[in-house]
Amino acid sequence: MAPRIHVQQQHTRSESCKLQILIVGAGLAGLGSAISCALAGHAVRILEATHEIKEVGAGIQVLPNSSRILQHWGLEKALTPHMTNPSVCNFIGWKGNRISSLDFHQSESNYPGTWYRDFHRADLQRCLVERALELGVQLTCNARIERVTVGADGATATAVAADGREWRGDLVIGADGVFGKLTEALLGRSDPPVKTGDLAYRLLLSTEEMRKDPELAPFVNEPQVNYWLGPDAHAVNYVLRGGDLFNMVLLVPDDIPEESLASTVEGNVKEMCALFEGWDPRIQKLLKLCQSVQKWRLCIRFGEFDWAHPSGSWVMLGDAVHATLPYLASGAGMAFEDGAVLGECLSRLPNSPDITKTSTEFLNAKKHALSVFQQCRKERTKMVVDRGNIQQYLYHLHDGPEQQDRDRKMQMVPTPEGE
Ligand code: FAD
Repeated sequence: MAPRIHVQQQHTRSESCKLQILIVGAGLAGLGSAISCALAGHAVRILEATHEIKEVGAGIQVLPNSSRILQHWGLEKALTPHMTNPSVCNFIGWKGNRISSLDFHQSESNYPGTWYRDFHRADLQRCLVERALELGVQLTCNARIERVTVGADGATATAVAADGREWRGDLVIGADGVFGKLTEALLGRSDPPVKTGDLAYRLLLSTEEMRKDPELAPFVNEPQVNYWLGPDAHAVNYVLRGGDLFNMVLLVPDDIPEESLASTVEGNVKEMCALFEGWDPRIQKLLKLCQSVQKWRLCIRFGEFDWAHPSGSWVMLGDAVHATLPYLASGAGMAFEDGAVLGECLSRLPNSPDITKTSTEFLNAKKHALSVFQQCRKERTKMVVDRGNIQQYLYHLHDGPEQQDRDRKMQMVPTPEGE
């Protein structure tokens, strides 16, 4: 596939104006901002708490906005073998009646150069890591950062690990996710994520059995994304890795005990199936293919506060400051946008051998860059977090006039030709 989006070239910066950037967290936000900041010509090191980069979860939908960014970062060639290209997104009532369909290919032709694709998270993450390393990013695992201290000069910050190791940089980017603690360190007060009342069962099924069943085979043979909407719950599914795997997410009321500190717990397949009794028989058939399952408590978070430290040496992004319900499939997309915008802002810092990073001119420009970053990102990510909450309400309506009104409105979206 020929790239239609301009691939960004790596900027060259004078050593005196090259930031040493430390990124806390190698999730999608941390990796995206690492690529973008490296492309902007800065030196980047990622500090990750786990002992290896291992993506948890299964599938991820990449929407047109992030597809542009990934192409811009030069990832299209690496990602192409791992993409599944669904043609349509179907919205289905919980009893199996089709509500409406969205034609992805039509929408791609309306916005040339964009695409809608599904990935196994591990594949997406691996491609991001490889691109980051190719651009000279350094990655240190087993580094759980406990706090960040800002230097007396205000120009630098130090990331301090739980085991006492320290890394000093000109800018720390906190990308430690929805359950991360760095915002608490930034604010000097507690900043817990907010429970949404929902949890996710995340399933990854082999498609071998599905192919033998005429009712389930079309899900594999004609790549598509399906949403079943029902009372208090919904289910989403799509194939991955060219049809080898089937990703299914069930979004249901949170029954993890209130006092439990864990956000992920072992689920029970029987209990899970019982929640979908009376739904479209194809859902029951799919759930019966599942051997074991985990439950993920869904939390959100939005940082109304200043995401950057007043010194300009520390900034937060990704789920750490705007975790949304996954009902718009947009959390990772927002993280990629954060990275792209931050890199763009940092690419505009002064770049001359006559200017140093500790000069007032440079420090003011750095503060300004972080302020522009926030101005570009806050309103949009708040809108996505709020909209995710609205989707929770709309997707989980009980049968009745409001649900009928929702379905009527969804049918106003043009459906693929001939259907
Ligand atoms: P995380 O992925 O949580 O990464 C944080 C990283 O920081 C981790 O690697 C962690 O180990 C590390 N870390 C934490 N604390 C420290 C520390 N103290 N020191 C060092 N490292 C630390 N988004 C989409 O765009 N499309 C989808 O289809 C989609 N589906 C989803 C389905 C579900 C069920 C869920 C729950 C989410 C979904 N999302 C989706 C949202 C998306 O997964 C997140 O928004 C995105 O992964 C957030 O990335 P992040 O890097 O900010 O956080």
